[in-house]
Amino acid sequence: MRIGNLSGRLTIFTEAGAVDVERASDGHFAANPESIYPRWAEFTQWARTCPDDYAVDFLPAELGPPSPKPAQIFAIGANYRDHIAEGGIETPEYPMVFTKFVSSVTGPAGAITLTTATVDWEAELVVIIGKEGHKVAVENAWDYVAGLTIGQDLSDRVIQLRGPIPQLSLGKSLPNFSPTGPWLVTPDEFADPDNLEISCALNGDTKQKARTADMIYSVPAFISELSAIVMLYPGDVLWTGTPAGVGIAEKPPRYLRAGDELVTVIDGIGEMRHNFLQA
Ligand code: ZN
Repeated sequence: MRIGNLSGRLTIFTEAGAVDVERASDGHFAANPESIYPRWAEFTQWARTCPDDYAVDFLPAELGPPSPKPAQIFAIGANYRDHIAEGGIETPEYPMVFTKFVSSVTGPAGAITLTTATVDWEAELVVIIGKEGHKVAVENAWDYVAGLTIGQDLSDRVIQLRGPIPQLSLGKSLPNFSPTGPWLVTPDEFADPDNLEISCALNGDTKQKARTADMIYSVPAFISELSAIVMLYPGDVLWTGTPAGVGIAEKPPRYLRAGDELVTVIDGIGEMRHNFLQA
């Protein structure tokens, strides 16, 4: 199933179009997307039998982030071997975790304003949590996942790297620096949810292309390591790191400029399309 946010309303996306959940459920489920994650099991059971009668057409510009107000956002750095190699960093002994603050959350389409000249792209697989969890075992970790979506971990490299120690959370949390979408896809939709092709293209040139099977910490391993320490809540958003091909690794570095178009794709999920404006 594809479930997401259409103009701020919880929506199921079917072959027939967009089905508004509050209307189709006669108010049994509320319209705001963030309210559904604590009721995920009940909701998905109902959604499997939801009729298409209410399906309407929609435009990508109307899509919002599938989890617009998560209690927590966790992101992992240095999680693909080829990205570690291009960055000249050591393979971490533990997952390198930071946050992207919730004020940076935005949707899968439209314009993003660049306030500096050093903003980079990072295509990522993003996980949305559907069940509260603490000390989750690797074998059970997929049971805690509501679905998978696409993310662009936009990063101001100067803010991120300024000392005395890196400020990843700040450099990756400017307004609209955390776009996700176009919807979440439930894990049962994938033949192998641990092995998806991920890519992004800048003005039509492919910059990143990899498979999520190349992650050092897979989705279940990341959930297990993280929940060994912190509690995970329904609606929490987990960013799983980016493969090689970011702009800072080019010689000279290539950062995003006004007029650029960035398209981020994960097979089996869809695409996000953003264009950039100067402040
Ligand atoms: Zn990242």
